[in-house]
Amino acid sequence: MSASPSSEQRVAVVTGAARGIGAAIAVRLARDGFAVAVLDLDEAACADTVAAVEKEGGRALAVGVDVSDAARVETAVARVAAELGPPVVLVNNAGVTRDNLLFKMGEAEWDAVIGVHLRGAFLMTRAAQAHMTKAGWGRVVNLSSVSALGNRGQANYSAAKAGLQGFTKTLAIELGKFGITANAVAPGFIVTEMTAATAERLGVPFEEFKAQRAAVTPVPRVGEPEDIAHAVSFFVSEGAGFVTGQVLYVAGGPRG
Ligand code: NAP
Repeated sequence: MSASPSSEQRVAVVTGAARGIGAAIAVRLARDGFAVAVLDLDEAACADTVAAVEKEGGRALAVGVDVSDAARVETAVARVAAELGPPVVLVNNAGVTRDNLLFKMGEAEWDAVIGVHLRGAFLMTRAAQAHMTKAGWGRVVNLSSVSALGNRGQANYSAAKAGLQGFTKTLAIELGKFGITANAVAPGFIVTEMTAATAERLGVPFEEFKAQRAAVTPVPRVGEPEDIAHAVSFFVSEGAGFVTGQVLYVAGGPRG
């Protein structure tokens, strides 16, 4: 499950990587040559992603952490540095939805979503940047969403995803002189448990829901986690060192 630090292999941290988009990003970064720390709420739930990373020949470490908990984030990042090596790539992917129309939205629903996406990305980035500035090289990629442009029933989520875009641009301005870039990927509809849960909440069979979404997408299909992993891989790549503060919509159409 873990291996001793190597001075040759750069270390990437992916949050919310037990499944879905985060798992695909972890595997893609392993394929790109990174050792990958697989972070999620439940350490045991990271086992499949760790196995997939190792199958790609990469080193991996599973770490259980709630990204909205400041003390646990500090401990988790320190553990990654000690057991895998200093993290120089951070993908803030962990996410939750608590959809509701504004007039029915409770404070707990607002706080949960802002807490994981915005506070979580802030805490993780603050902890990881110390290693990146020391290395003089780093990459931060934040997961935004087309919902940043507004989406019925998602006042909390769209505010968080729009907030992440401002956060990303500010990171780019502050950290550029240390060789660190910061960019955001804003996915459209991607097939994961998150969108399956949305279909269930709306009472629409998932296959029908996907067909409806594909029908209104210029590239007439739904997205797969690998579509997002590919965009993240670009932002993390050596050649993307002059690309920073950007938001890339990966949505099968020109939204954004
Ligand atoms: P997902 O399948 O629900 O996976 C999200 C992962 O994040 C889960 O493993 C979840 O763990 C974990 N997580 C939740 N809260 C956490 C916390 N406080 N600390 C650490 N990990 C936590 O979601 P996804 O569809 O792959 O989405 C990944 C990212 O892409 C999210 O930021 C999402 O907002 C964004 N996105 C997704 C879509 C889409 O269509 N799917 C579109 C646009 C943007 P548990 O299972 O234990 O809760």
